[in-house]
Amino acid sequence: MPLDFPTIAVLGFLLCLGIAMGFSLLLLVLRRQPALRLWTASLWLLSVSLTLIALRPHLPPISSILASNAAVALSGVLMLYGVARHLGHRLPAWKPVALSIIYLGAIAFFLLVHPSLVIRLDVFSVFAVLLNGWMTWMLLRHAPPAQRTSCRLAAAVFGAQTLLYLVRLFLPVAPDAGEDIMRAGSPVFATYLAGLILELARCFALVLLLVERMLVDLQRLARTDVLTGLLNRGAVLADGANLLQAVRRTPRPLALLLLDVDHFKQINDRWGHLAGDAVLRHVADVLAGCVVDREHLLGRYGGEEFVLLLPDTDAAQALQCADRIRGALRGSPARVDGIQVAVTASIGLVIDAGREDMARLLGDADTALYRAKAEGRDRTISAAAVPIT
Ligand code: GH3
Ligand code: MG
Ligand code: MG
Repeated sequence: MPLDFPTIAVLGFLLCLGIAMGFSLLLLVLRRQPALRLWTASLWLLSVSLTLIALRPHLPPISSILASNAAVALSGVLMLYGVARHLGHRLPAWKPVALSIIYLGAIAFFLLVHPSLVIRLDVFSVFAVLLNGWMTWMLLRHAPPAQRTSCRLAAAVFGAQTLLYLVRLFLPVAPDAGEDIMRAGSPVFATYLAGLILELARCFALVLLLVERMLVDLQRLARTDVLTGLLNRGAVLADGANLLQAVRRTPRPLALLLLDVDHFKQINDRWGHLAGDAVLRHVADVLAGCVVDREHLLGRYGGEEFVLLLPDTDAAQALQCADRIRGALRGSPARVDGIQVAVTASIGLVIDAGREDMARLLGDADTALYRAKAEGRDRTISAAAVPIT
């Protein structure tokens, strides 16, 4: 089979059709990915544009050229909006629209007023360079830190497309092509082929963007306590062990506070379980308000127990922090259905002496906490077994 331009145009159309269908199927499963809708619509429009190019010998030239360029312009704009949406980047809506209107105006001018295939191809290349360059820049500039890998890979593909159309600006068009793109010559033909290969690469890059986003979301969910939004027990233990190791490479002290809400069962019994949940969220908010240092680690250890790891904190500072927390809890009762619910907490405090692991630290803090309960609650006891307040 000779690989002439019409054959490649048909192959290109089939390839894009397949990709658009694949993305439509993905959309059925991944309904909550807003960028995917825009990308799928963009890919269908690209298929329409390539269909019109493949059928060009059988269609009225002027209307089919205008229609295929309109489809390609809209496709590019939707792809751009999709990338911006995926990155959470607020894009001024008018800019891409203005760019595509200028593009279509230029195509119409060099088709109807001053017909020139060469200039139309250049206009398209400039449009493609601007759009792909824009997406490359966004992917590099606005990549969320946890999703840098997929954003950089996607930026590489969009960057390659930018480069391809930049090169095409300088490639010659066959002198006898006239107004027929099918006879534009080998260099144009080669860029069309390269464009198709990059189209496949772009399809995988887009899927990779979605996959990494979902992985990050899943990891975050797996580490988050659903009720309070704080770190859950597993995450506190894992991050705590890492923090402990990091701190031990330095002479910095580390304190651990284990906090338990006093008589929480009575709150549940009196106001109901939902009110109990609201009180737990309130306690979490108060604790989060007391955590000022980004290095501090706060999580819900379980039930009505919370844990706080404070690097660079000695016993006196940890005690101050515990007092601040208990003061804040006492000073701001939870509001449940318009009723004020007084909340106090007991705290077990332990200082890392360099030989304990997380389990041992928590065990010692728990023993101290038990004593705080036994001695009347709403107080802090240090694991050194010396009552502090
Ligand atoms: P103490 O002062 O000795 O700590 O008494 P307490 O009542 O706080 O402790 P106890 O261990 O007797 O009761 C804790 C209660 O917390 C029992 C359990 O039903 C409740 N609880 C655990 N998890 C949740 C939750 O997610 N939501 C609600 N509403 N209650 C919870
Ligand atoms: Mg408890
Ligand atoms: Mg309790």
